[in-house]
Amino acid sequence: MRLRVLASGSRGNASLLWAGDQLLLLDAGLAVTAMTERLVDSRVGLKGIDHVVVTHGHLDHSRTAGIVAKRHGALLHAPAEILEHRAIKRAPRRQAFPVGVESHLGPPEDGVTIRTAVVPHDCHPTFALRIEHEGRALALLTDCGEPREDAARALSDTEVLMLESNHDVDLLRAGPYPQSLKDRVLGPGGHLSNDQMAVMLRRLAGPRLHTVVLLHLSAQNNRPELAAQTARQTLEQLGRADVRVLCAEQDRPLETLDV
Ligand SMILES: [Zn+2]
Ligand SMILES: [Zn+2]
Repeated sequence: MRLRVLASGSRGNASLLWAGDQLLLLDAGLAVTAMTERLVDSRVGLKGIDHVVVTHGHLDHSRTAGIVAKRHGALLHAPAEILEHRAIKRAPRRQAFPVGVESHLGPPEDGVTIRTAVVPHDCHPTFALRIEHEGRALALLTDCGEPREDAARALSDTEVLMLESNHDVDLLRAGPYPQSLKDRVLGPGGHLSNDQMAVMLRRLAGPRLHTVVLLHLSAQNNRPELAAQTARQTLEQLGRADVRVLCAEQDRPLETLDV
């Protein structure tokens, strides 16, 4: 498989995952113009996307999911609870996520399997995903209020880990957000801090892991070097200084990487 993170942050999340002959779009939170630009830039032609996979209903993950799925004739996968939401139901072909079982994403002969785990977030349900193809696997965990052991079990043993590292707690506490928003971000329905990311990384850094991509970094309450340093220190403590750490960006796609 190959992964390209198109964008990540509170203004929109989207990644492309090539799995054999199938092309998956993981979240579709960019506006139409930005999404189209980044797909063209990634040489994705019309009808190029086979599956659009939406982790939860917040607009920074779902904004253009229905439009993109319709344009590309893709099958849209999302939590059952949001299949009739406005941004989602524009897709003529929609399917609810499997819950608690591993299943095929598309026809079994394509060999793409997906496992889901519900994570705490103030948009229920929010799903973390583990996608596998030909013995290689990727996990996506974002928009998660607190580290959870059950999520770690469902997502373990992957080559690539896409993991939220939203904020530095001190920067958030001292920053410009109103207290109610600070409480929301810090609470169990909010987002993973750099330190909470480290807790999940400890649980998820298996022997196959070669790359960690940090997601959803707050422009106000985090700095890429802080998040990356926290991840690198954690990996060093685990004896895994060989694992590459990247920070996804809001305004620029990452290089395409092999899973
Ligand atoms: Zn989000
Ligand atoms: Zn969210």
